[in-house]
Amino acid sequence: MDLRIGHGYDLHRLKKGGELMLGGVCVSQEISPEAHSDGDVAVHALVDALLGAMGWGDIGELFPNTDPQWKGAASRVFLEHVMKRVRDAGFAVVNADVTILAEKPKLKGYKPQIRKVLAGLLGVEEGRVNVKAGTNEGCDAIGRGEALAAHAVVLLGRGE
Ligand code: MG
Repeated sequence: MDLRIGHGYDLHRLKKGGELMLGGVCVSQEISPEAHSDGDVAVHALVDALLGAMGWGDIGELFPNTDPQWKGAASRVFLEHVMKRVRDAGFAVVNADVTILAEKPKLKGYKPQIRKVLAGLLGVEEGRVNVKAGTNEGCDAIGRGEALAAHAVVLLGRGE
């Protein structure tokens, strides 16, 4: 099997008000990211992991934050777009591992839903997607609740 691995990372500053989307799930209506799109760090990290695996550059090249087309866009659109390209190239997701770092809100209760949504977007069963949540132990901007971030690793495979 032809295997490709990719890593993605994203961080957004947080502001008061608005809606906080993580992994395609609304987890707060008290804080939101500073972003051109909906600023979903988990989805952005996954998109970059997919692009990395395929050797296709990064999310900023595909969906520039200067393009009015993407203003306020739901980030799941980016993931759907990239997954179509991945499938068209003959690849499928083997598994994905996502780590979200946020001081608030507490994400424990949202992890199963985020996993389900991301698995659907990646076209795999839930057992092939893992979602981890952590804080930065009060350190740095993430620890102070001024920003949140996500890391993602994706393995892609193309049939025998
Ligand atoms: Mg981003």
